[in-house]
Amino acid sequence: MSVYSQLYEGKAKILYATEDPEVLLADFKDDATAFNAQKRGSIINKGKINCSISSQLFQQLEIYGIKTHYIDSPHPHQMRVKAVKILPLEVVVRNIAAGSLCQQTGLSVGTVLKQPLVEFYYKNDQLGDPLLTRDRLFLLELATPEQVDVIHNLALQVNEFLRDFWQQCGITLVDFKLEFGLDSQQQILLADEISPDTCRLWNIAEADPNRRVMDKDRFRRDLGNVENAYQEVLQRVLKAVESKT
Ligand code: UDP
Repeated sequence: MSVYSQLYEGKAKILYATEDPEVLLADFKDDATAFNAQKRGSIINKGKINCSISSQLFQQLEIYGIKTHYIDSPHPHQMRVKAVKILPLEVVVRNIAAGSLCQQTGLSVGTVLKQPLVEFYYKNDQLGDPLLTRDRLFLLELATPEQVDVIHNLALQVNEFLRDFWQQCGITLVDFKLEFGLDSQQQILLADEISPDTCRLWNIAEADPNRRVMDKDRFRRDLGNVENAYQEVLQRVLKAVESKT
């Protein structure tokens, strides 16, 4: 257990201060929540698996030219990150229709979008993370127009990289959520995590709509074999990274 003081406990991670004010330690938990924490449970080894997947992806994204908060991973379930002020935005990028997009628009699950869709949600659990319009985002002063443009661009670049990377893993990237933060120089860094908790990932080799699911939808929809799916994603990520070096 860490001797550092705890700053914050979220649904999936605990954040600790370190001796360096510019550095925080994120401890990834096995706890799983869905539907704005109305469904709660635990996925064995999820903390280690998600921290390892995120660490690999952040390192690959840095090589690709995207600035992230990642520093290193001293333990499989812990990540040292640059201290940032998280913007209260959940930035969702979609390549294929699923989840709330289908519920809110009537599009069928699996509809391939002609171009990636970038959406901004208000990161606010009490309000249920509502979808924002551009004007509402500015009304609430959640970010400046310049920051929104930079984030929109970064989200599309991350999508370009991740789509390709997951493809190399034999996985279709359906959609995912990103969070961004501002460092002490007001620079925008990609933050939080990128994992099966925050991405919809479909096994390319499986046509069956339930069997192909390799992400948190297995937990949300009680599809079973959640840990196996997460573990399989990690193994594929490690193999893809190894083949690059
Ligand atoms: N997502 C997330 N955290 C959230 C909401 C969504 O990581 O609080 C991810 C989710 O796993 C999916 C994508 O963002 O990969 C789009 O989610 P959607 O809006 O379809 O919401 P959901 O169907 O998960 O409620």
